[in-house]
Amino acid sequence: MPIANEILKKYWGYDNFRDGQREIIDSIISGNDTLALLPTGGGKSVCYQVPGLMMDGVCVVVSPLIALMKDQVLQLRKRQITASAIISGMSKREIQNVMDNAHNGHLKFIYISPERLQSELFREQLSHLPISFLAVDEAHCISQWGYDFRPSYLAIANVRELIKNVPVLALTATATKEVQQDICDKLEMKNPTIFTKSFARKNLIYVVRKENDKQTKLLEILRKVNGCSIVYVRNRRLTKITAQWLQQNGIKSEFYHAGLPQKERDKRQENWMKNTVQAMVCTNAFGMGIDKPDVRSVIHLDLPDSPEAYYQEAGRAGRDEKLSYVALLWNDDDINALQLSIKNNYPPTDEIKRVYEALMQFFQIAYGSGINQAFDFDLNAFVEKFNLQMFAAFQSLKILEQQKILTLTEAVYLPSRAIISASREVLYQFEVENKKYEPVVKLLLRMHGGIKDNYCVLLESKMANELKISIDVLKQMLNDLTKMNIIDYSPAKDKPQIILLKPREKQENIELNLAELELLKQKSEKHIQSMIGYVNNTTTCRTIYLLNYFNEAHTLPCGKCDVCIEYKKKHYSAAKMLKVYNGMKHEFSIRPFQIKDAQNLLKEFSEIDLKYYLEWLLNEEKITFKSNYIYMK
Ligand code: ADP
Ligand code: MG
Repeated sequence: MPIANEILKKYWGYDNFRDGQREIIDSIISGNDTLALLPTGGGKSVCYQVPGLMMDGVCVVVSPLIALMKDQVLQLRKRQITASAIISGMSKREIQNVMDNAHNGHLKFIYISPERLQSELFREQLSHLPISFLAVDEAHCISQWGYDFRPSYLAIANVRELIKNVPVLALTATATKEVQQDICDKLEMKNPTIFTKSFARKNLIYVVRKENDKQTKLLEILRKVNGCSIVYVRNRRLTKITAQWLQQNGIKSEFYHAGLPQKERDKRQENWMKNTVQAMVCTNAFGMGIDKPDVRSVIHLDLPDSPEAYYQEAGRAGRDEKLSYVALLWNDDDINALQLSIKNNYPPTDEIKRVYEALMQFFQIAYGSGINQAFDFDLNAFVEKFNLQMFAAFQSLKILEQQKILTLTEAVYLPSRAIISASREVLYQFEVENKKYEPVVKLLLRMHGGIKDNYCVLLESKMANELKISIDVLKQMLNDLTKMNIIDYSPAKDKPQIILLKPREKQENIELNLAELELLKQKSEKHIQSMIGYVNNTTTCRTIYLLNYFNEAHTLPCGKCDVCIEYKKKHYSAAKMLKVYNGMKHEFSIRPFQIKDAQNLLKEFSEIDLKYYLEWLLNEEKITFKSNYIYMK
């Protein structure tokens, strides 16, 4: 087997593994089911990509977002590593082509969107592949108790039954103990090895401000903290208003949300990546999978609905480990809105059933049919046609998804693509007999190397130009060629899809699992309460608050967040600090000790005061702190 370090050097050019990576790689190579928790930007992809290259067979990767998958495939190919993605919207034939390549050993990585795994046929195909191991990225999506539950992730367990001796590697940046356990259970892990690193991000300065005029405060921060920034707001309308306002005030800004056309989104993201704009004002549609090291600030103008979501979004700052500023601006309106959102997120069951009925009519499904069918879905057209309220309709669809009645895939742009499906002889014969189509076929072959074996992306405008015909005529000809079985052509699309998982039921017969719905609602209430607790908190260091939430035993306060700064203003005394220092020096001059030892020694200090004095001593470099042990200097 090749050596991990050599692979890392050869394909990535990195000399060393980062903290934790090596252990995770060794574990999966030894065939252990493994759960790896590494913070955002910690380098999780390498943890499955390196062993994927070391082991025989193909590594199957499940990932929640199609944009993420496409990006990963692109990155791998740039490194001369073979990879493909199977996503919704692809034709049966196209999928078969990828599977064949995997079968023949031409692929090291297949990325699969989880809703694919709901198809029995697909699972059957998968079970015949020589799979090295199964990697589940963003594994918290499998847990209902996580902050980003995706019901289609539950189908991963069905795959494990089919590929019995294949180990699984689950990766995530955010999971409470409860969610970790749930991931292991839902993925049916056997004696899993769990790797966790501290959730603490030492270079992040957490700040929370109650603010009535958020825009002015935002401007103030962006003027003070130079460098690239992400500004999160709750809705699409606000992205635009806020970006324009910043722009008017001299801060180069763009706005971004899922409603913009793909091309526009790509362009804006690129401008921001290249630092031609400073601030990206966006909804939470922006950020996942974006790997920019030098984000200097992440500022929230609204409350995220869980500490996990906040930790993930804020965590996009400072991947380069340099000091970065993460601020949350809030006021009482936000808390009211958040509390109201629970009600809106869980519409009454009658409403959910009505949306179901409307959807069936929209797709014209007969009773008892429709199972496993996929439809392009235009939410705007749907709500307009049935006079539904947009948000409520969308939430109802989400709940139908949680109830495993259907799957919603995100909008994804798939370019036009084609493969030559006819054999060489048939093709030759065809060209001779159909002079009209000959130039198109010739151009297809000339412009796209490998189009006889693999689906290639077509640039229709360029082709039409060369052929001196209109795009419409070209498309018509490509469709004709498909009908005649010469090529297989799929035009571009950018619509989300709905896949039905059950045959159509009469509205009154739909069974919703009310107990489960209630549990989910309670969970989301709990998340929201923790988030409100986070902003209302004025006594616990922000880092410690978040670490507690992730059930991590906390150590010392960060010394940098707004709570710590306030505390220092009120309680710091040089004389007391000297007392702490001298006391410890006297007792522990030669051996390391733990916080609890210091507490036993200095009983007149409250626990919290003592921790702050330790933090301040640390900051003045009078002591060092490593693996929970304190060393005197
Ligand atoms: P995550 O998925 O954990 O958020 P990524 O896998 O996207 O993080 O990695 C973040 C960045 O760190 C990437 O640019 C990656 O190439 C880089 N990286 C990963 N491992 C190493 C390493 N050992 N040395 C240097 N850079 C690394
Ligand atoms: Mg990642």
